[in-house]
Amino acid sequence: MENQDRAMRYARQIARMIQVDTVRRPGADKENFDRLHAVMAELFPCVFEGCRRWEFESSLLFCWPGKTRRALVLMSHQDVVEASGAWKYPPFSGTIAEGKLWGRGALDVKGNLHDIFQAVEELMEAGYTPEWDVYIAASHEEETGGNTLIVDFLREQGIVPEMLVDEGSSIQPCPVPGFDGHAAMVSVAEKGYIDVKCVARGPGGHASIPGKGTPLPRLGAFMCEVENTDLFPVRLSSASAEMYRRMAALSADEGERAYLTAIAEERPGWQESLGERQKEMLGTTIAFTMAGGSQAANVIPQEAYVICNIRVAPGETVAGAVAALQAVADRHQVELEVLRSNEPSPVTDPRGEAFVRVERAIQAAWPGTEVLPFLLSGGTDTKHFVSLCPNCLRFTAYRISADQQVRCHAIDENIDLDTIPNGVDFFKNLIQGL
Ligand SMILES: [Zn+2]
Repeated sequence: MENQDRAMRYARQIARMIQVDTVRRPGADKENFDRLHAVMAELFPCVFEGCRRWEFESSLLFCWPGKTRRALVLMSHQDVVEASGAWKYPPFSGTIAEGKLWGRGALDVKGNLHDIFQAVEELMEAGYTPEWDVYIAASHEEETGGNTLIVDFLREQGIVPEMLVDEGSSIQPCPVPGFDGHAAMVSVAEKGYIDVKCVARGPGGHASIPGKGTPLPRLGAFMCEVENTDLFPVRLSSASAEMYRRMAALSADEGERAYLTAIAEERPGWQESLGERQKEMLGTTIAFTMAGGSQAANVIPQEAYVICNIRVAPGETVAGAVAALQAVADRHQVELEVLRSNEPSPVTDPRGEAFVRVERAIQAAWPGTEVLPFLLSGGTDTKHFVSLCPNCLRFTAYRISADQQVRCHAIDENIDLDTIPNGVDFFKNLIQGL
């Protein structure tokens, strides 16, 4: 009963945060973030009055001083993605129904934003003093690439956090055949990101006298070659090896155990044994996403382009990925222009102290839950902190279903009410375990 009461109370609080539309609209959204801050100041008076607080545009930073100057950063962004489409309940209503809390940001990531503040609020109320300084960092533009306002400030102040926990994957159905349960996926790294414009040029001309090798067919041949070549061989990082080792230990199926162990130990043929989805998770991926040619159906373009998006696996580099693409591009007289890039993050040791702290906090909040190190394909605000903080982990502290997972950034985003108190407990455990 107590858990149900807590779940309902927390859900109502998160609903109030969901009701403030914080879709990022540069130049026109400051008022919305101010409204969210006002709601949060009302919900978390101890944090807002008792912690040191800084504002950078609409990004927030709090410091709850501990007994030592070792520092933990807890991070969750305030902004959400747009919410078009036909929702079952209006996306900014924060409706509580069917045992769930519905709305944009429930899972990504106002729920965890609330839970971090609520955990600190409850501990402050109880008179607790943490061993370490606890920072809460809440940016307002994660969904549009993030900013470096908070990390620049920390660096200026000479503050080097020892550990950071940001949003990431969750406790979700475990992808291991022969194991029928959920596992907490704690991301120890995130992939790098590159947008590349690939341009083919030619003399152009009238479509009635085309000749051969005009820009668009060359781009087509280039894309086919990229698609049909293993441009980016899959390598196993120490963290991925640890993930496969732990997955093997979970499976009750002997064949599956042998298969996963062979991957973990990189036995001959392990790369060929990977399914497409596994290759995508472990390795560098490339997807062609945009294209342009001439402005008229009867005109051969002098210049045509395609744009591709590359996600660079940890352990690889932006320069290495671009060089591999360049080698194919050269064969088709295609020029490359990097539009935007960031390197993959370093990998946090899944057997290191920071990971173990998170693992313990999860297992105390959700007893019996298996914890797996994981690689995040998408980017988070953490990418701005990896050069400052040596141990970055990404975990959204909720237990979710496969259906709830795909509703993130889609319609009908929701979380179960009964997982919310565990989310708050996770952050309390983490702080109390310092
Ligand atoms: Zn997010």
